[in-house]
Parts: sequence; structure tokens; C-alpha cells
Amino acid sequence: MIKVLDLNFQETGQTIASFLIETSIGPILIESGPYSSFENLKQKIGENGYSIEDVQHVLITHIHLDHAGAAWALAQHGAKIYLHPFGEKHMADPTRLWNSAKLIYGDDMERLWGDMQAIDQENLEIVSHGERLIFGDVEITGWHTPGHAKHHIAWQLNDVLFSGDVAGVKINDGPVVPPCPPPDIDLEAWEESLTLIKGLDLKRIYLTHFGIIENIVDHLAELEHNLSGWSMWIKDKFELNRDVESLVPEFQAFTTAQMKDQGLDDHTIRQYEIANPSWMSVVGLMRYWKIKKEKG
Ligand SMILES: [Zn+2]
Repeated sequence: MIKVLDLNFQETGQTIASFLIETSIGPILIESGPYSSFENLKQKIGENGYSIEDVQHVLITHIHLDHAGAAWALAQHGAKIYLHPFGEKHMADPTRLWNSAKLIYGDDMERLWGDMQAIDQENLEIVSHGERLIFGDVEITGWHTPGHAKHHIAWQLNDVLFSGDVAGVKINDGPVVPPCPPPDIDLEAWEESLTLIKGLDLKRIYLTHFGIIENIVDHLAELEHNLSGWSMWIKDKFELNRDVESLVPEFQAFTTAQMKDQGLDDHTIRQYEIANPSWMSVVGLMRYWKIKKEKG
């Protein structure tokens, strides 16, 4: 049994999810969410009849703060945290991760993300590509799926995939959009990860932002279309040597117009902006094109 826990991030529903899976050895979690919504996570776990101490296994899709920011607090209750090898040192010592986020968010850091503390090495479990984990009667396979982040894993449980950010963001029947934050965006790697996902014979994808997707073929096609649309939009501006600051409002207007065309209301557009701030995608895609140019 899989439960979608709405973490009500920034007092806004359907922006960040965590997933509770009931197994014969107790509940396990996919995604911890950020520490700023840890109280909500505890409450949602409680509503499902469990305490935080019952959660002894937490699988994170990647170490971005909206997915893994509260993992340390679960580890303090004894949970093992399962993650990509590239995420390990940042979870064992989050100083660099926190400081680089602080460069971006400044004084807003605590309000957005709460806190982050080190996780003991013995609580960190590195998962290799294609590795199968057994939790009582439940088997979960970890697929290394870079493109959005180098340290990304999509977790497969039978015909269900928990896709983190690699299968995009979709809220309230809105468009499927690609979150493109710095510093790891790699369009070629992302495309390879989507090819892997298409080969998995899935019936459902669970998006962290936000919810259950059943029409997988159309969903992934729309993601590819919009990833290409966004990246080419930014590429044009990159070639004109535009600066990031002046581009952000233009890009925001471009994506807002796309959503209004689909008939989305202002609340849903705001949910998208909270789950996937458009300025981050400007920074991430500008960086991608810059690196690509430098490589020749
Ligand atoms: Zn992310």
C-alpha cells in the first residue's frame, strides 16, 4: 500500500510529496521533504497509524533540500538513508550543500528549508545502479537517473516508479515541466534517463511535485517537448549574451503564458512557482549552455 503524504510546503498543498509504503517490516518512506515541513511529515505519518520511530528506512531520490532536507532528522530516530553515491559526502557533512544553497536563497534559507545536520556514516546506505533492496515483502530497485542532478535515483516498486524530479513536475492537470536548477543540468544525460524509464514497463509514476501519473507515454512526451522548448528558449538568450537577472522576469512571463494558455488558474501557477521556481531554471540552463560552449 502506497500513501501520498502532502507535506503542505510553505502552507501550500500539492507542491512537495513524501511517499509512505507499508511493508511486512513496517513503513518505509520515499523522500523526506525539507526540514521546514518535518512537523507536517510527522503528522501525516501519524495519521497513517505510525510514529516517526517506526520509519527505519528512507529512500531519497536526490539530495536537493526539497527532497532530502529532513533526512538527518529521520536518521536521528534511527532510520537508514538510502542514496546515490554522489550524495553521500554532502549528507555526511552538509556544510557545503547548505552554504551553496545560502548563496542562492540568502536570508530566506531558514524559512524555506529549516535546518540541516550531519548524518552519521553508519546511517547512510549507498545504492548502485540497478541494485535491488529488500524490505520484508517489498522489493525496490534503484535506477541512477542523472540529468536533473548527478546524484539522482528513481526508485521502482513493481510497476510503479518514484521519479523524484527526473520525470518532471505536474500539478493539478497543468503542463509537465522540467525543473532545471544549477549546477548539474545535463540534457543528454536526462534524455538517456528518460529512455531508461520508458523501458521499465510501468503502470504509474509518482511525482514528488506532485502526485500520480497513469498516462505515462503522453506524460514523458510532454516533458521532452517542454524540456526542449525551455532549453532552446534559453539557448537563444545565451547566444545573445543576455544576463540572468534580466532574463528571469521574461522567462517567468513565457512560462506563465504557457500555463494560462492551458487554462490554469492563479493558484495553480503559484503552486508551480513554489514547487519549481522559474528563476532556478534560468540559472541552471544558462549554466548548461555555458559549460557546453566551453567544452566546444
Ligand atoms: Zn531536485
